[in-house]
Amino acid sequence: MKIAIIGMGTAGVSVLKELVKSDQFEQMQVDVYDNPKNMGQGVPFQNDSDQLLINLPAADMSLNLDNHREFYEWYENQTTFKFSNTKYLPRFIFGHYMKDYLQQYNYKYKNICLIQEEVSEVYIESKIGNTDVQYNVCTSKETQNAKVYDVVFLCIGTLTYHDPYNLKGTTGYIHTPYPTYNTLDYVKDSDRISIIGTGLASLDVIRYVTAHHPNLPITVTSRKGHLPSVRGEMPELEFKYVTPENFNEIKQRNFGNVPLDDAICLFLKDCAELEIPIERLVHRRQEDVILDLTYDLEHSEILGKFQSILELAKENLNWIWNSFSREDQKKFLADYQWILKENSNPMPPQTARLIIEHIENGIIEIKEGLESVEKVDLGFQLQFEDGTSQSYDIVINATGSKTHLADLDSDDQLVLNLENRQVVQAHPLGGIQIVAETNQVISPRYGTLKGMYALGQLTNGINQSRNGVMMIVKQAVSVVKHLLESKS
Ligand SMILES: Cc1cc2nc3c(=O)[nH]c(=O)nc-3n(C[C@H](O)[C@H](O)[C@H](O)COP(=O)(O)OP(=O)(O)OC[C@H]3O[C@@H](n4cnc5c(N)ncnc54)[C@H](O)[C@@H]3O)c2cc1C
Repeated sequence: MKIAIIGMGTAGVSVLKELVKSDQFEQMQVDVYDNPKNMGQGVPFQNDSDQLLINLPAADMSLNLDNHREFYEWYENQTTFKFSNTKYLPRFIFGHYMKDYLQQYNYKYKNICLIQEEVSEVYIESKIGNTDVQYNVCTSKETQNAKVYDVVFLCIGTLTYHDPYNLKGTTGYIHTPYPTYNTLDYVKDSDRISIIGTGLASLDVIRYVTAHHPNLPITVTSRKGHLPSVRGEMPELEFKYVTPENFNEIKQRNFGNVPLDDAICLFLKDCAELEIPIERLVHRRQEDVILDLTYDLEHSEILGKFQSILELAKENLNWIWNSFSREDQKKFLADYQWILKENSNPMPPQTARLIIEHIENGIIEIKEGLESVEKVDLGFQLQFEDGTSQSYDIVINATGSKTHLADLDSDDQLVLNLENRQVVQAHPLGGIQIVAETNQVISPRYGTLKGMYALGQLTNGINQSRNGVMMIVKQAVSVVKHLLESKS
């Protein structure tokens, strides 16, 4: 069986790890594709500043579902990197742990080939009248260089960054903040800096800039001006009411769907059972960043429980989400998605303390109500809802990556090509269409592609909010299991 894995970050390495474990591995030839910089590390865990931290304790995140401490143990046993605070380690260390897997496999197995190039095309060449397909993978524009595979894993990670104010290419506009240690290469100490976006990426920039340019004031702004929550003490929880059994029973009475209101009812029953004061926690914000961060720091136990139940919901979101009608999915995105967004992927407590300190000493200003950003002669004009405007020399874009195929440009050429060749099609709520249960790609021309699987953010319409490391690893395990079962 000839297999291509396109993209060697968390998803790609996890897929390879599962293939290697299988007793059919000797009959496989596996080619893995990525650029030399990201091969084995991926984008979030690339070499970057040690100020960028993993957002959960190191001992809770690993590529091994049977041993959550594996990454931490790997860190303890190596001698190259040593840090004083080992609870929340820098992200690039996780990248080296993943890369170590890849290097060991590459050294040990002759049937793995590392191709240090990006893929430009994946196309299907089926004979007229024949429904069996194979997949051609190209790293150039020439079809004669294509390699043919029985199975392809699309593991290309996040799409490129949003450009909400059409500023890409403008002098002084930094379109993507990564790697942060290059972000300020052309910034002068006298420049006025703003960061647009108040999510995890902007926290990365804040941590980097304040550590390396300690006296450079920064304005961090977005429409709501809300920072992520602060990680509490998160216990392991289980649902008693939000269960596949209850969902299956409700589906029988509702044309194959679970109405959103019924699902919310079950979720609230679970919250009551676990003594989580959901109303109070959802509406706890006081619209004052210092008060909000302090509240989170001081309520780590109850907040941790709340974050755990949201994490549990995300872990199970594939069957929860895909039980809803399209109308209810849209309603969920409009009415509830913000709760997940603001309270899951929380920041480490030490980042919260650092932000409070920098706000208090005037280095950071967090400003809500951003309406527009315009290029003007001497920099950028930021306009706010309250009618005020402020000028900056530098704008750093931390608004996050695109989710919909309709927004893509030539920076995501592989996905555009895949769509153009009718290998993939857009999912109306984001990413591409796949079968929720198996991650197999659904082509508009060929139907369900038995040998083509997609994992990660590219599948966000189906795998809503399921992009953390542990969720990606779970996807990889079940996808490879599906492949092996279908071939045996
Ligand atoms: C800034 C940031 C921080 C994060 N921090 C955390 C965290 O602390 N904890 C957590 O659980 N999750 C975190 N996440 C979520 C994270 O996205 C996932 O956990 C995980 O890394 C995604 O894995 P992936 O394999 O889908 O993507 P990636 O790890 O990014 O891998 C995708 C790979 O595909 C390659 N690629 C892209 N296009 C091509 C092509 N045409 N040809 C060949 N290769 C290609 C890329 O170079 C890259 O190496 C973070 C995400 C971001 C963006």
